[in-house]
Amino acid sequence: MRYPKIRELIEAVKALVSGPYTSKYPIKPIEPAKRFRGKLEYSNEGCIGCGACALVCPVRAIEMRDTVTKDKAVRRMRVHLDECHYCGQCSALCTTKEDMPPGIRHTTKFDLAGFDRKEMVSETDDKELALCEVCGDVVTARAHLEWLAKKLGPLAFSNPSLFISSLKNLGFSEDVFQAVKDNLLARRQEPGAGREPAGGLIRSDRIKVLCSKCRRSVTIEKF
Ligand code: SF4
Ligand code: SF4
Repeated sequence: MRYPKIRELIEAVKALVSGPYTSKYPIKPIEPAKRFRGKLEYSNEGCIGCGACALVCPVRAIEMRDTVTKDKAVRRMRVHLDECHYCGQCSALCTTKEDMPPGIRHTTKFDLAGFDRKEMVSETDDKELALCEVCGDVVTARAHLEWLAKKLGPLAFSNPSLFISSLKNLGFSEDVFQAVKDNLLARRQEPGAGREPAGGLIRSDRIKVLCSKCRRSVTIEKF
C-alpha cells in the first residue's frame, strides 16, 4: 500500500502550492459549466403551450391547467421548481427547443434556496386554447396549431384543423367557413344525395377544427 500514500503526499504538496480545490463560494462567485442544468426558465414568447414538457417530466413538476368556461378557454403552465429534479427532459424534448427563444431551458442559476415553497412556482401567461368545434374538447393551444402550420408550410393544407386555424389567424372571417358549409349542405340536399348519418356528425364537419376523437369519427367511422 505504499503507492497510494506517495500519491496522496504528492497531492498534498500540490495543494500547498496551488491552493485548496474547494471554491470560496459565496465569498467568491463561481461560474458553472456551460451545460449546467440549473434553474428552469420559461419563455412566454417561445412556448407554444403544446404540453410536451409536462408529459415527459418524470416527477410531474410541470403542471398544465386548462380553464374552459363560457367566456374563455385558456391554458396556463406552472413549473414547481421545488419538485424539479433537474433531469433536463423537458428542455431536451421541448417542441420549440431549436427556436429562439425556446419554450423552456435550463439556466446556470443554482442558488435556489428559499423559505417559502410558493415562491418556487413559476407560471406562464395564459395561452388561448383551440376547442373541438363539434364536442368542445380541448384540441391544443392555438399557438401550437399556428407553429405546426408554419413549420409544415404547404403540407399543413392536408390537415383541415391546421389550415382552418391558419385561415382564421390570417383574418379570414367565419363567412368563409359558412360558405363552404352551406355549399356542402346544399349538395347533400340534392336529390339522390346520401342520408345524413346518425350521431350528430355530418360530412361538412370535416372542415372544422376537431379533436382526434371527432376527426376519427368523421373521417374513418362515419364516412
Ligand atoms: S428538469 Fe426534469 S424534473 Fe425538472 S421539470 Fe424538467 S423534466 Fe421535470
Ligand atoms: S413549447 Fe416547450 S415549454 Fe412550451 S409547452 Fe411545449 S414543450 Fe413545454
